Amino acid sequence: MDIISFEKATKYYGDAIALQDVSFTVKDGEFITFVGHSGAGKSTLFKLILGEEDLYGGTVCRDGVDITSMSEAELLEHRRKTGMIFQNFRLLSRKTVYENIAFAMEALGYDETQIESDVPYALELVDLRHKVWSFPAELSGGEQQRVAIARAIVHQPELLLADEPVGNLDPVNAHEVVNILKQINKLGTAVMLSTHDRSVVDKVKGRVITLVNGEVAMDDKKGKYIL
Ligand code: ADP
Repeated sequence: MDIISFEKATKYYGDAIALQDVSFTVKDGEFITFVGHSGAGKSTLFKLILGEEDLYGGTVCRDGVDITSMSEAELLEHRRKTGMIFQNFRLLSRKTVYENIAFAMEALGYDETQIESDVPYALELVDLRHKVWSFPAELSGGEQQRVAIARAIVHQPELLLADEPVGNLDPVNAHEVVNILKQINKLGTAVMLSTHDRSVVDKVKGRVITLVNGEVAMDDKKGKYIL
């Protein structure tokens, strides 16, 4: 089953081409790395998946349903089954690690009992249970990104979107975050990871889709890096 499918997806911002005739599918439980220089269209892919941007042409589907034609309720359900992490972590600075994750769960409609039982489990996965009462400013960049991962996967989404998640991290922390993403993938979540960093691609080793100026230049099962 295809969890995500792009079919000749084309997106312009004014006259600028962000994506041109982009086609690929992501299967349930797959791990795909998207590589490209800055401006190649990686973030646009994720925005289209989240239904945050309109398409100029082609389609982007979740579980076979065209995302641009989803009702508000369908879009909400689609986002509920999706986790997202970003280069700049996006944690709430005045909330503790626990509160950051609890807040996201409340927004998804979980009750207090569920939150109390699931937050420690998610923090265990990223090896940060001991930081549950810390504030983001008290954590390293790598730890903050791990909290963001815990928050993104606490509701057990089928799909995790990771837009340049190691772009702000040193090699040691980047390595650790990639390992955690691989582990989450082994537990059954499909992962779409974007990066411009060759060492990340080498480490993941799986399927790599290379974007150049908004077009798919290569889709390689064995993770070849051509930039
Ligand atoms: P990447 O994530 O690979 O750096 P993006 O998807 O952010 O690339 O951008 C792809 C292209 O679209 C770039 O040329 C960028 O300048 C352009 N672009 C992205 N977002 C906007 C926007 N909101 N308005 C105008 N142009 C944009």
